[in-house]
Amino acid sequence: MHQKALSLMQFQKKFGTEKACQKHLLRLRWPEGFRCPRCQHDQAYFQRTRNLYHCRACGYQASLTAGTVFHKTRTPLHKWFWMIWLMGRQKSGISMLSLQRLLDIKTYKTVWTMGHKIRQALATRDANYQLAGLIEMDDTYFGAPKPGKRGRGAAGKAKVVVAVETPADKPRFAAMRLVSRVSRAEIQPLVRERLTAEAVIKTDGWQGYSFLDASPNLRHEWLVPGSGKEAPKVLPWVHTLIANIKGNIRGIHHGVSPKHLSRYLGEFCYRFNRRFWEPQMFNRMLHACVNSAAITFSELRA
Ligand SMILES: [Zn+2]
Repeated sequence: MHQKALSLMQFQKKFGTEKACQKHLLRLRWPEGFRCPRCQHDQAYFQRTRNLYHCRACGYQASLTAGTVFHKTRTPLHKWFWMIWLMGRQKSGISMLSLQRLLDIKTYKTVWTMGHKIRQALATRDANYQLAGLIEMDDTYFGAPKPGKRGRGAAGKAKVVVAVETPADKPRFAAMRLVSRVSRAEIQPLVRERLTAEAVIKTDGWQGYSFLDASPNLRHEWLVPGSGKEAPKVLPWVHTLIANIKGNIRGIHHGVSPKHLSRYLGEFCYRFNRRFWEPQMFNRMLHACVNSAAITFSELRA
């Protein structure tokens, strides 16, 4: 069934109050209604300010938000819902500063943490999916190079391997991974976890990819000798995606530290991979946020 995305007005009407968001979350978590995890009783009273259900039979306290990115948050759920909706609406992403202003969130640290919890949930969800068939693969560098260093060995930059599924010369799905260097040890996990066994991988001639030749099931096609300037021509989609995410990180997020880059890659790929299901974006993102254990601020900082 074709479904239209909610307009801002419809969204406000549906999720504009804390109560409406709590009810929605309850339905997502317990579609059959409340059921006590300890005694299976189905009657509880709800402590609205703490998102807690108290079982009327045994007194067990079940949290509406446990195991979700909203757990123990002091920010009202309706602001979280708005934030997810806004992040899903913007093709190129939205800055945390804009969200802080739009949603009246007191500190930048709060909105920043919320953003990363959402990104982490999206990245985790996206990592469950594999690319298949014809794959373009290349690596790139994010961030400023150290003076005097050039090319693939450039130090001080974040290295990212990008894979794009390109059936019929059109991009379909993408996966990206932060690596410490372009080597078998670093790329093998990406190949194993994110590509199906029968994939055909096209790369440039960089020696870091030579291990692909020996991988059973896979087929590896070298496209250019060395890692010359031809790469964007022979691997067009992977280079288009790289240009897009770099523009996005530069323009919207004003640069990202390598420490947090993985989550931006995850957010970008999540949205890219679901670009044909835009009307469902909010529901899908919310679902990812509900079914993902939260990471704490201290874990984000580690
Ligand atoms: Zn109970």
